[in-house]
Amino acid sequence: MKVSRKLFLLSIVCCIGIAVNAQSYDIVIKGGHVIDPKNAIDGIMDVAIKDGSISLVDSKIDASGANQVVDATGLYVVPGLIDIHTHHYWGTNLDQAYMDGPNAFPPDGFTFRNGITTIVDAGSPGWATFEKYKKQTIDLSKTRVLAFLNIVGQGMRGGVYEQNTSDMDPRMAALMAKRYKDDVVGFKVAHFEGADWTPVDHAVEAGELAGGIPVMIDFGGSNPPLSIKELFLTHLRPGDIFTHCFAQLNSREYLVDLKSQKVKPFVYEARDKGIVFDVGYGGISFAYSQAIPAIKEGFYPNTLSTDIHIGSMNAAMKDLLTVMDKFIAMGMDFNSVIKAVTWEPAKVIKREELGHLSVGAPADVAILGIRKGNFGFFDYTGHREAGDKRLECEVTIRDGKVVYDLNGKTTPIYYRPK
Ligand SMILES: [Zn+2]
Repeated sequence: MKVSRKLFLLSIVCCIGIAVNAQSYDIVIKGGHVIDPKNAIDGIMDVAIKDGSISLVDSKIDASGANQVVDATGLYVVPGLIDIHTHHYWGTNLDQAYMDGPNAFPPDGFTFRNGITTIVDAGSPGWATFEKYKKQTIDLSKTRVLAFLNIVGQGMRGGVYEQNTSDMDPRMAALMAKRYKDDVVGFKVAHFEGADWTPVDHAVEAGELAGGIPVMIDFGGSNPPLSIKELFLTHLRPGDIFTHCFAQLNSREYLVDLKSQKVKPFVYEARDKGIVFDVGYGGISFAYSQAIPAIKEGFYPNTLSTDIHIGSMNAAMKDLLTVMDKFIAMGMDFNSVIKAVTWEPAKVIKREELGHLSVGAPADVAILGIRKGNFGFFDYTGHREAGDKRLECEVTIRDGKVVYDLNGKTTPIYYRPK
């Protein structure tokens, strides 16, 4: 009698325990193939989310009491994607290009449907134009929006504004970055046409003054081009970023030697030093004639990014998932592709709380499917590569909330705009 009473009490305690445990999750993602490069997870796992954070990743999680359950059977579950080269300072000033102008667009219009939860604007605002950008884009977006401040005070205002070396003030840029350190992750150099190191050197100086944050370099428009060997080995620091790494434009020196079809030896020296190679696909900043030999040789970019704007999104680039598709079709392995849009960019922008599914991390998750068929991927030169896979975003979760669901995989279904 005593024993059975004990057992009875024990079973009540257990039941309460299980019930509390099961009901304590906001979302449980069931049965997906989790790829979390930071934590070396690559297998079928469940993921539980509570109060905006990752609560548990395990082979079997009881979802019976969760507020929402996502059926991820046959899908990949990865950390929310991070795109470190975008342009989102949208506005109606027709002559201002990417700075409060018409070539940029609001982030939420193209992020969640691509599994993206964090974007970094690559230098659209400078220190003098950042505060308006903060109000009209960063603070109004559901997407996590960060920024590289342009070393030009006016930012990407176009034309002569971006050639004005007297508007490249490291001290003012660093002061603004320190004032908004939750939003600003580094500095950007872009669109400069002179044979002059001033923009690069002032951006690096700003990076130092702001406490050792990186610079992203869109390099060169001079004729003849400045040496990228000198850029990598003399001017930049470990952790600085060379974007548009597979561009092949006359005004720039490129990574792959066209005669030998090999990556130039000093590029490996730069990689060993810690220079970060970022795709920054853009309108004309990616050529298969550079990327194919590099990938064949095993030279993978550190980060895949879009350089998305109104022009590139409707041309060869399209979106981040398409950029990922292209690298998969060229032979870059799937786990490396996922790492290049999650954990690697998080490290590059020094936001190591992002880009992984560790317990306690912000619950940013992308659930991706692979569609099979006959697809074509092309670049701006007209070169076309065939592929048999296309990534598709099924569900996106940002800070523990479902923000996009393509096929109603959540129960109950997420369907109302919030
Ligand atoms: Zn750009």
